[in-house]
Amino acid sequence: MENRKNGLHIYNTLSGTKEKFVPIHENFVGMYVCGPTLYSEPHMGNMRTFINFDLIYRYLLTLGFDVKYVRNITDAGHITNSAGEAVDSIGKAAKAAQVQSLEIVYKFNQKFQELQRVYNLLAPSIEPTATGHIQEQIEIIEQLIENGYAYVVNGSVYFDVKKYSEKYEYGQLSGRKINELAEETRVLNAQDEKRFFADFALWKKANPDDMQIWRSPWGKGNPGWHIECTAMSTKYLGKHFDIHGGGMDLKFPHHEDEIAQHCGAVGCNPANFWMHANMLNVNGQKMSKSFGNYFLPLEIIEGTTTLFDKPFAPNVIRFFMMQAHYRSNLDFTPDALNAAEKGFNRLNDAISLLPKLSTVAESSFDVQALIDSFYEAMNDDFNAPILVANLFEAAKRINLINDGKETISADDLKLLSTEVHRFVEQVLGIQLEQEGAGSKLAPVMDLVLTLRQQAREQKDWATSDKIRDGLAAAGIVIKDGKDGTSWS
Ligand code: AMP
Ligand code: ZN
Repeated sequence: MENRKNGLHIYNTLSGTKEKFVPIHENFVGMYVCGPTLYSEPHMGNMRTFINFDLIYRYLLTLGFDVKYVRNITDAGHITNSAGEAVDSIGKAAKAAQVQSLEIVYKFNQKFQELQRVYNLLAPSIEPTATGHIQEQIEIIEQLIENGYAYVVNGSVYFDVKKYSEKYEYGQLSGRKINELAEETRVLNAQDEKRFFADFALWKKANPDDMQIWRSPWGKGNPGWHIECTAMSTKYLGKHFDIHGGGMDLKFPHHEDEIAQHCGAVGCNPANFWMHANMLNVNGQKMSKSFGNYFLPLEIIEGTTTLFDKPFAPNVIRFFMMQAHYRSNLDFTPDALNAAEKGFNRLNDAISLLPKLSTVAESSFDVQALIDSFYEAMNDDFNAPILVANLFEAAKRINLINDGKETISADDLKLLSTEVHRFVEQVLGIQLEQEGAGSKLAPVMDLVLTLRQQAREQKDWATSDKIRDGLAAAGIVIKDGKDGTSWS
């Protein structure tokens, strides 16, 4: 895998280009991804982002990297939205249900964990919570005040963007310039505590009806939204790590402000590579709770949404997502899911033929080149749709071999089978159908056919016929040919 590893290129939002991936510490990858705010059940759009980073995690592991994957859970209230307004969505949900904030988070985290199992996501190395790291957040804010990049007003603390801009470039990730920002942001009014419109909250003084309140050097309050990710990424991955990811909508202000906080506190951008996954849309509009155009992942597999008139298996939905590059928008439509279902079945059927293919001395096509194309696709910024197209090419070859129109050697068949299974199951995270020959049935059939062969050699026709008739009753047809016995 060493030369494959060296070929990995990743699109870095920070530079706007694809760059060769060189880890900070040889063989080790530190990756932080912004996780969900668990005030409600994650929708399919949220899941697309987590499925895309699961694909990235899986491929890094497949290349042989030792990966520490940190994905947080936002469970602290007083979240600040993109307009800088405090919208404690968890507290709001808790009040409506007349329970505590963490009861809401606990309930929806159980759902989120279930969704990860259903959609076959690998568990991250750790899922730290914002409320479990209040002390670490306070310490970074203290450091920012000490360094002159934050100021205290009336029990709240704000990041000083103007002061920061004297030394660092604010807007390096999103490309937004402070004077352009001024035009699209409301003018500061007299009651504003902030010195400058682009300043953002690091700590907010508590309101009497806040659901979560902590003590701090500045009095009772709660942390701003961005500081939690700075605290948790630093704690688990250090001051400088390889990859920071999240949905495209987090680029500004969340990630821009994370960079500012990190540079202001410790003097460097936290991550070498910033990766952003694009949105799942419905009729061209981002799937979102606030637009009301969202679908829940479990509703889709139960077939109870208004969008689809039938259920779709999690495998099919995952396969559908893999047919779009993680940086592309993807529209969620019945036609696209039906097409994905057909494609998935076609691929599954071809893979199930693999153990039954006959082999000859030489292959009629370049098997190694086909396999190289799987790695090349994924090494090119995790290009799963190209990988899927190359897997369909493999499926075409498998069908042609089965029809006697192409040939394959025993060594090549072993290689093809190993790599096709690796890329479908391990990299794409697609679970193949159990009745397929590539699964548990194949070794059982090998055993049954060997026993039948032994019976035939001993001229025990009664046993041999009994096996054939028993298999036929189970829907498995066997054919005796000059190259041995095949089944379907
Ligand atoms: P939130 O719970 O709102 O913090 O979102 C959790 C993650 O889901 C973030 O990385 C968002 O960028 C991502 N996300 C939200 N809506 C969508 C969408 N429609 N498609 C893809 N990702 C999304
Ligand atoms: Zn974050």
